[in-house]
Amino acid sequence: MPDSPIQQIVCCMGQPVAGNPTQFMIERAFAAAGLDWRYLTLEVPPENLPDAVKGLRALGFRGGNFTIPHKVAAVALMDELSEAANLVGAVNCVNRVGDRLVGENTDGKGFVQSLRQVTDPNGRRVVILGAGGAARAIAVELSLSGVAEIVVVNRTAERGQILVELLNERGSTPARLVHLSGDYVVEDGFDIIINATSIGQGDAEARVPLDLSSLRPGMVVADVIFNPPQTRLMRDAAARGCTTLDGLGMLVNQGAIGFRIWTGVDADPGVMREALEEYLEI
Ligand code: NDP
Repeated sequence: MPDSPIQQIVCCMGQPVAGNPTQFMIERAFAAAGLDWRYLTLEVPPENLPDAVKGLRALGFRGGNFTIPHKVAAVALMDELSEAANLVGAVNCVNRVGDRLVGENTDGKGFVQSLRQVTDPNGRRVVILGAGGAARAIAVELSLSGVAEIVVVNRTAERGQILVELLNERGSTPARLVHLSGDYVVEDGFDIIINATSIGQGDAEARVPLDLSSLRPGMVVADVIFNPPQTRLMRDAAARGCTTLDGLGMLVNQGAIGFRIWTGVDADPGVMREALEEYLEI
């Protein structure tokens, strides 16, 4: 690390602070790029978010991330939104351009970059389990990537319907809702299956409500869960001959996209993944 004053500060605002793996990963990437920058994780209660964003401006922070529960509330506090952030209706990454704050959504882009390492989503039919923030970001980015059809499977029909309407009305991809009851059976012709629910977070044995007998060899099964990365779904899908994609790739890629937005230089994804694996003791 060069012996010079700190050049820039980037922060993550959440509640409770959930940014520690990200902090570890991004600070490693700063060091590997020779940047004497800092990434702070700040616990910000929802009622303080407007003041915290004013603070980010006043203190001249270079940018930041918003995590649960701030991604939607942050939209109204930005001066400008990217296309994805506007469509998703959530901001997870902010870039300060002069005195303007530009809200981005890099979750979906991070996921799609990860997906492209194993398959081209263009023209494919995709199942997304979940309709929360992660599912919305992934669905919008897949729609922008030219998938042929999206089926949204969600426990709460109203939330699922909102996402389906967003995709049908503002995106270019036909979408429909399956209201989750019992185990979801994957229909013929769908070969990319994504768990974008929070099932499995912190629990390697948690079961996603999916009929495993409908998984076929050659399908791509992806999980947004990164802690632990080897979820029960990942293990079950691999045992059935599917190509699996864990949540670490999405986390690394969305971090690398943010890194590029803030610093203007490319991060080393290998360094970032290694840092995450060290943090998570994998
Ligand atoms: P939200 O709370 O917005 O959404 C959670 C979703 O999971 C909802 O669709 C909810 O359904 C569904 N769900 C939760 N529990 C159950 C259950 N028992 N049965 C059926 N459905 C369930 O969370 P986010 O979308 O923001 O995050 C989801 C997960 O993605 C989190 O674990 C988060 O850590 C992870 N994530 C990972 C990222 C990465 O880089 N790898 C990036 C962003 C998020 P309902 O609508 O019915 O409540």
